[in-house]
Amino acid sequence: MRDLEKQLLDDFLHDERIMPRVKVEQLLLTYLGLRECSQITIPAEFPGGVEMGQRIDEHVKPHMMKLQGIKDPRGKALAINAIKSLLEKQFEEVVEESEPYKALYLWSDRLGLKSEQTKVRPTVHEVYLFKDGGSRKELRKLQKEREKLRVKTQRRPDPNLGGIQFAYPEEFNAKWIKRMGKLLGYPDCCISRYANDRVKGINVEVRAAKQLADVIKAEEKVDPHVYPIGYFYPCKTDCEKAINKGSTWHELLQKEDERLGAMYGEMINVNVIMVLRQPELINRYVSQFRRPES
Ligand SMILES: [Zn+2]
Repeated sequence: MRDLEKQLLDDFLHDERIMPRVKVEQLLLTYLGLRECSQITIPAEFPGGVEMGQRIDEHVKPHMMKLQGIKDPRGKALAINAIKSLLEKQFEEVVEESEPYKALYLWSDRLGLKSEQTKVRPTVHEVYLFKDGGSRKELRKLQKEREKLRVKTQRRPDPNLGGIQFAYPEEFNAKWIKRMGKLLGYPDCCISRYANDRVKGINVEVRAAKQLADVIKAEEKVDPHVYPIGYFYPCKTDCEKAINKGSTWHELLQKEDERLGAMYGEMINVNVIMVLRQPELINRYVSQFRRPES
């Protein structure tokens, strides 16, 4: 390894408290300087994260049930605030005390990364990892911008907007999406397409699945490197910038350590499956890699 010592990498790869995807996409790519900044949603991207969410839900459920019986608006507002505080406290106890949480910060430190944590909802936080102070500055600006957009949306709710647009207005603001996409290292053509789709109300996941399905139905080959990161949607299935990113990362990870190359190769194939999500098409896609005799 260049400066990541072999022993350190061995320990890192054996630590089961961090998901393999997070190890490569978020921690190592940022450590190697291949991404300026990466993002982890917690506890969703922790091993056992779903169970952590369920534990919190169970704890808060009785209070939610009581809420339905409160008719007085003032009493209801107070009860909602109490539930919010309870959720935040639960996040501290269940998530921040957990082993995966400690491991994330331990490895971020060992790899010399800096971090910022933002609360998206009382029980959903985002952890951003980066090396450079400039990223912290841009993250904080984006965070302030997000707050402003949320306050504005809540002050003047637009009856034409759906629940998601109301809860996450920044996700439908082209300027905000473009700045965040740039920071996370996505190609500009793909960011533009994503932002334009979101603003027009087009479901990006459905669009991306359809693009991929059409190519596979036509029996054309898809280079999995066009999906260099999970939950990233390229502008088209043969976007050169996205393929270039995936191929470069794959090559450099392979050069660092063969295990990393193999992990990344598997990951991008899973990314294709995640975008597709239709069993019949998944079979057709996978079959192109089978040897004729099998
Ligand atoms: Zn593109």
